[in-house]
Amino acid sequence: MGEKEAVLETQGRLIVDLSRLKEGGELFEGETSAEILDLEDKEELVQPAGGIAYKLQVESLGNELLVRGELRQNFICVCSFCNETFNLEVKEGRFVESYEINDEFAFLDLTNEIREVIILDLPAHPRCSEACLGLCPECGANLNKGGCECKTDHGDDRWSALNILD
Ligand SMILES: [Zn+2]
Ligand SMILES: [Zn+2]
Repeated sequence: MGEKEAVLETQGRLIVDLSRLKEGGELFEGETSAEILDLEDKEELVQPAGGIAYKLQVESLGNELLVRGELRQNFICVCSFCNETFNLEVKEGRFVESYEINDEFAFLDLTNEIREVIILDLPAHPRCSEACLGLCPECGANLNKGGCECKTDHGDDRWSALNILD
């Protein structure tokens, strides 16, 4: 480890120690705990897998702190159409936040903005693939795994698949 860095991961939060930030800015790369996501009601359908990978350029411009870069988080999701689990990578390649700072600021907590960006990228109804056929509304068979004996026209079944889940 060695010298302390200006970006700290402490108690599940990602914090910039302004006193350690190099003039001209610095690039920070690492992984922080996905606990900061605090998914609450979403947790049944999406579960974080591993930590949040970040690559952030942190720069102080007078009384502004500019944070730019990318965030990546893997999730294990349950498809809301066919109920199968699948992996989803949420990637925000253009994370940009600016914070007003002054001499009284020693630490700046980036956690809330990071959380917001990742959560906004999460689908409300995860779907394993655009082509997912969902479940047969009659017998509940997974139509991705072949047909069933029902005579229903399966067509685009996404809404009836949702009804089954309700
Ligand atoms: Zn599916
Ligand atoms: Zn069926």
